Amino acid sequence: SKQTLILLYGGRSAEREVSVLSAESVMRAVNYEKFTVKTYFITKSGDFVKTQIFDEKPAENEKLMTNATIDFDKIVKASDIYEKDAVVFPVLHGPMGEDGSIQGFLEILRLAYIGPNILAAASTMDKLLAKLVFETVGVPQVPYVAVFSDDNLQAAEQEIAEKLQFPVFVKPANMGSSVGITKVGSPSELQAGLKEAFKYDSRVVVEQGVDAREIECAVLGNNGEVSATLPGEVVKDVAFYDYNSKYIDNKIEMAIPAVISPDLQQEIQNYAIKAYKSVNGTGLSRCDFFVTADNKFYLNEINAIPGFTQWSMYPSLWANMGLKYSDLIEKLVELAQSAFETRE
Ligand code: ADP
Ligand code: MG
Ligand code: MG
Repeated sequence: SKQTLILLYGGRSAEREVSVLSAESVMRAVNYEKFTVKTYFITKSGDFVKTQIFDEKPAENEKLMTNATIDFDKIVKASDIYEKDAVVFPVLHGPMGEDGSIQGFLEILRLAYIGPNILAAASTMDKLLAKLVFETVGVPQVPYVAVFSDDNLQAAEQEIAEKLQFPVFVKPANMGSSVGITKVGSPSELQAGLKEAFKYDSRVVVEQGVDAREIECAVLGNNGEVSATLPGEVVKDVAFYDYNSKYIDNKIEMAIPAVISPDLQQEIQNYAIKAYKSVNGTGLSRCDFFVTADNKFYLNEINAIPGFTQWSMYPSLWANMGLKYSDLIEKLVELAQSAFETRE
């Protein structure tokens, strides 16, 4: 009999639109000889709504239900998603999706799920915690200063001016998809940048800005056994890779594989794996690096549930290695089951 794959999409974070696109891509690509797909939309306020069930490949133009089309009578208890032997794919980004909360919930329900476990999700979602872990295992990163909302702002600004050179990037610790991030060109704009970041989190990271290429590496596996792809490059024609350019304006192009020296390629793969293992990576992650003109490289961040449309960087990096999208999904299901068996 067929296995049930449960897709959770939407979600509470600012990144819910990306989530819907990724989930639709998965639902179209799944091998329906092997799977039945059941979907649940998570609303902005955190309600679970039962949406479509697919027993066969949906039409090319089929959309998942979202706010506009949803039947709010179909709100269920979150625990009603339970089905014995099902595998869940929480195709959710950002807080309440990629931060360990949904993962903890699924563990309590005793369901297998794709992607990061609680620790991997929580530690990579938090830009400050992630930096501390990467520092500990010797993964290169740009210099940074942590600022907390109740810090003396004048003292913080002074520390930033002493330790970092402008421009700097001001980031809330717990966000993704560039939400709340500001590029700050001079000390006089710093306060505005901090204020924007503090809208999202009481902990903020201020980073040295670098003039760099953005090189990304896809990692797949459970902690003991992990592999990494040849890196790809995000080729930008915008000042920085913000939410609009990523998802709305489509101004991003990818170069796969990235044109970099074999040595650098190897180093990036090694550090991607090292960083992934250091946060107890499970399932998948996209490890994003900066590479400067003089070939210095820094890990920027790990995205434990990266954009997952068929055309997103993560699946495209694997396609370049010969693992096509639908097979990648099946591989992730296997990894989810093996992590589940280890837990149980
Ligand atoms: P998110 O988790 O929201 O993707 P990132 O830390 O990746 O946050 O920052 C978003 C984008 O901002 C990056 O992809 C890059 O274009 C730019 N950026 C962030 N930090 C720096 C930095 N220190 N130097 C240069 N560019 C940066
Ligand atoms: Mg991110
Ligand atoms: Mg990023």
